[in-house]
Amino acid sequence: MSQSFNPTPRTLMGPGPSDVHPRVLSALGRPTIGHLDPEFVSMMDEVKGLLQYAFQTKNELTIPVSAPGSAGMETCFVNLIEPGDKVVVCQNGVFGGRMKENVERIGATAIMVEDEWGKPVDPQKVEDALKANPDAKAVAFVHAETSTGACSDVKTLCALAHKHNCVTIVDTVTSLGGSELRVDDWGVDAVYSGSQKCLSCTPGISPVSFNERAIEIIKNRKTKVQSWFMDLNLVMGYWGANTKRAYHHTAPINALYALHEALVMLKEEGLENAWQRHMHNHLALRAGLEAMGLSFIVEEKYRLPQLNSVTIPDGVEEVKVRAQLLKEFNLEIGAGLGALAGKVWRVGLMGYSSRAENILLCLSALEAVLSELGANINTGVAIAAAQKQLSG
Ligand SMILES: *Cc1c(COP(=O)(O)O)cnc(C)c1O
Repeated sequence: MSQSFNPTPRTLMGPGPSDVHPRVLSALGRPTIGHLDPEFVSMMDEVKGLLQYAFQTKNELTIPVSAPGSAGMETCFVNLIEPGDKVVVCQNGVFGGRMKENVERIGATAIMVEDEWGKPVDPQKVEDALKANPDAKAVAFVHAETSTGACSDVKTLCALAHKHNCVTIVDTVTSLGGSELRVDDWGVDAVYSGSQKCLSCTPGISPVSFNERAIEIIKNRKTKVQSWFMDLNLVMGYWGANTKRAYHHTAPINALYALHEALVMLKEEGLENAWQRHMHNHLALRAGLEAMGLSFIVEEKYRLPQLNSVTIPDGVEEVKVRAQLLKEFNLEIGAGLGALAGKVWRVGLMGYSSRAENILLCLSALEAVLSELGANINTGVAIAAAQKQLSG
């Protein structure tokens, strides 16, 4: 006989999902009601307003896509890009590569602007690509590269794109709620994010937002959006203001209760306070890791507070360390991806995971496991260094 599934509670300090706040988990268990029920519809309106706050935008078309961050990415690309278009795609980690894949599957051309993994997108290279391709329609890039921990300059890149008459598509999956993001002030035209990183929510929902410039492009398409599910012209009939809420698909009702709760919590904390909390905790983790003798691969001024890529001590089998952290401490940290596989650990401090007790657990567990494996680290100093920073 099959039994109920009861996972062991873990502390999630990888690249996402992050720890889900208990308030969000309990929201998931509330009674399921119909997705056209007036009570649900008014909650949908609140979710839109709360997302506008999180994104710092007045965009009317600000909605949660009923699928994970990757679907938000695809929603942006399939609606804005048509076969034959040219898109400048910036790649400085894993996710820029996915953007390229999206562009090419549409039958459009990706002009790649590549930077080393761990470095931000270089605006000069973007400008060069735009000058060499005056017919480009869009510029796409990742704000917070989760595969490396590097942060790119959204405001500068958007200004460049607009100077060359391009619309911007920006990945903010890991930045939303964790580091400064101002969609309207920074001129972001189309943006997508995810529920499971700095919003402390369960995975599976992708907030997106489109401004007037983006909507104009979508309205003037020559071809139909090839994805029925993601076609915003149809989705708008369900989520749009002053529409009759025509049935499009069944919304993930309980998952949206969870997102609503997570966004209410963000509002209660205050967006800028949330950004500050992520930075404050990052500095404490950093103090501890550096005291131990580990170092960061991203230059300080481009470092993301919510994703810490750190070096692995010489001679240590990194897979073994992560397995032991999980087994002995129920603690998950992330492995390196792509070009950084085997070279770094990625320690996430996202959303509800970004708190003092997690930092102290991570430092003491890592120290215990590394010592046990005979790694050459400084012992007995990490916790004090972190605590000093935490209380400072
Ligand atoms: C996690 C992530 C995604 C993908 O989100 P999923 O919810 O896993 O589909 C996209 N971009 C970035 C930068 C991410 O960190």
